[in-house]
Amino acid sequence: MNRHQFVAEFQLLQTLLFYIETNKTEIIELDTLNKKAMRNSLIKCFLVTLVALPNHSYGNSELTFEGALIGLDGKNKVQIGDMILDEFQFASIAGTQDVGEPGDGAASSGIFGEQYRWPNAELPYTFSSQIDNRLQGVIKDAISDFNNKMNGCIKIRPKTSQDKDWVDIIKDGGCWSYVGRQQTGRQEISLSTGCHTQRTIQHEFIHALGFFHEQSRPDRDQHVKINWKNIQDEEYGQFIRQKTSLTFDVPYDGRSVMHYTPTAFNKDRGLNSIESKMADVATSELGGKVMTENDILKLKRMYRCEDKTVSCGRHTATSCQGCPQGNGRGWCNGDCTWNARQNVCVSKVSEDKCKTVGGPSANQPCVFPFKWNGKTYNSCPVDSDDTNETWCSTKTDSNGNHITGQGLWGHCGSKCKKEG
Ligand SMILES: [Zn+2]
Repeated sequence: MNRHQFVAEFQLLQTLLFYIETNKTEIIELDTLNKKAMRNSLIKCFLVTLVALPNHSYGNSELTFEGALIGLDGKNKVQIGDMILDEFQFASIAGTQDVGEPGDGAASSGIFGEQYRWPNAELPYTFSSQIDNRLQGVIKDAISDFNNKMNGCIKIRPKTSQDKDWVDIIKDGGCWSYVGRQQTGRQEISLSTGCHTQRTIQHEFIHALGFFHEQSRPDRDQHVKINWKNIQDEEYGQFIRQKTSLTFDVPYDGRSVMHYTPTAFNKDRGLNSIESKMADVATSELGGKVMTENDILKLKRMYRCEDKTVSCGRHTATSCQGCPQGNGRGWCNGDCTWNARQNVCVSKVSEDKCKTVGGPSANQPCVFPFKWNGKTYNSCPVDSDDTNETWCSTKTDSNGNHITGQGLWGHCGSKCKKEG
């Protein structure tokens, strides 16, 4: 296929997507083309012409989107904006219904969606050699902010040898991610230059956890206006509404980190491709920099930990502190344990953990093992500055080395084991 044929087919697909978006579905219904054959040929076509396409990226200060709609790696994957979809997910977007039933797509509920979730709500990651130490630090900060906000519900953490599937962070032209777990072992997230804000790092990880863009929600037209005339013709596909995606009963959130900014993929500077219809969200606020309460709630509902309970013996509660009061330790069993000092029921896990009680990072869990000065520690070494104290690392890099010079250590608490 030469470039002209490619462009023609490409435009056909874009038109198709545009008509789906604008609900002119009869055009597709009347189309005599076999949808599946067409989709496959298009994907193949994109595969062979990938090298011929200029590797253009579209950016504003916040997000850089790479490519338009291109095939990728011979595995029938399609890239739309910064998301890479497999055939099944693409079918769910494009409205072709020959894969599963309508609504069975990755974005919808039920068994089909489960395969895209990460087991135990833990997303393991590795850094490729392209990610230098400085950038690793930036990414880890964004990850730890994410983990703190998720409050134990979802954890992004370094890969261990037990992990079958994981995300490898690379730099490969722009910011992009697959949507959900691909069950391929290693899958990639690209964070190239221009992708190193907290918003963009968390945005790509939230794709990897299984979310599409906020403005793709089925109910988006009640909340935002898409200015088709201001969007680059070849980018209509970025603004497809997904009729089947799950909203988890969380209200539409214009400030979501998963929402496009108002000028995304615009034809010209200053033109808005999206405008807010919401009284309480200005157009300029679309696509916020910080994960919102709704972003957190959606993730918690997807991973079913919103209503996580603990066992207090014969009772359950949302936290150990919520176990029935009055009978003291007698009520405090199961996941919880009685803390006599504070006269309260506390989580067994946090109680058993060795934590720091002083130093620059106080009240943080110690990280073991940690490597420091060429030695590996599984317990707290004596502080060379104050031999009455022991200390531990509260943060290590992906190789397990204690990160020095950033105050990421503290004095060990009473639950900690002492070296030697
Ligand atoms: Zn995205």
